[in-house]
Amino acid sequence: MTRSARLFRYRLPIDSGIVLSGQQLDERVGYVAQLRDGACVGCGEIAPLVGLSVESSEQAEQQAISLLTNWVGGQDSAEMALYPSVAFGFSMALMCLSGQLPSQVPYHTVPLLSAGSMADTAAMGALAECRLAKVKVGRAVPGQEAEQVNQLLCRFPHLSLRLDANRAWTLEQAIDFSSAVNTAHLPRIAFMEEPCRHPSDSLYFARESGIALAWDETLQHAVRQADFRVNSLSGAKTLVLKPTLIGSVQRCAQLIGDAQAAGMSVVISSALESSLGLTQLARLSHWLLPESLPGLDTLHLFSAQLEIPWPGSTLPLHSLQQHIQVWQS
Ligand SMILES: [Mg+2]
Repeated sequence: MTRSARLFRYRLPIDSGIVLSGQQLDERVGYVAQLRDGACVGCGEIAPLVGLSVESSEQAEQQAISLLTNWVGGQDSAEMALYPSVAFGFSMALMCLSGQLPSQVPYHTVPLLSAGSMADTAAMGALAECRLAKVKVGRAVPGQEAEQVNQLLCRFPHLSLRLDANRAWTLEQAIDFSSAVNTAHLPRIAFMEEPCRHPSDSLYFARESGIALAWDETLQHAVRQADFRVNSLSGAKTLVLKPTLIGSVQRCAQLIGDAQAAGMSVVISSALESSLGLTQLARLSHWLLPESLPGLDTLHLFSAQLEIPWPGSTLPLHSLQQHIQVWQS
């Protein structure tokens, strides 16, 4: 038998004040599956996200152990219904093991700001080099946030923006926002993710405002339906795909193909994975979507990296061995 596997559980502090489902997130817990076959090694991150994933960490751990046990024993797990995070991490580990995922890729991402970041000199300095940034809106008065967007676009004439309201607005608030954005700036808004609480309001808003729509939360909900078809999401220009919340690499590739056939573009995005997962998402994005810049600028929310550093990051690097090995075979 040449196969072996290990499962690590990591805990990394987060110092961001992120609130998910009403809970302050001060630590990220996840797993890394490490597969070994002869001299080849492949890792994948299994990191369900509290409040967004259907599965808990404990459920993912149990299922990952069954799956890895089968794999080491040479048994087929094709019939196992897997949680999205487990399917993604395991398929990624297999791809790395077999060398299918390209390793030499540009580690580009779109910088992430909030509308209030205008006062942040470091964030503004970094923008001078960028053509595209992402701005979180929906956190203050819509008209004021629109004014901040106007100022940003005036200050950086080459910049385009992806906006994300995370369903914060009523239709009226969304329209307050768009009517306060300078008309001349509208073409520089690449898209807005989820402006309104209700998807039907977001669709109406996109038609009224001329701001292209992207689905993120709506996609996550839709893919859980047994009769899901990507055509049900048309009306948006773009789908924001978080593989940890969707499923295996193969399922993501299929979804990307279907979305493109239906005339939509796709952006791969993080679900707060560690640096190990983020670097793999960058490689996946470059492989499946070479023309699309992924949204992976979430590492700065962590106070340490895990095993594989993100190029250029100065955060301290933890090895997997510094974390708990929960299982091996
Ligand atoms: Mg989003």
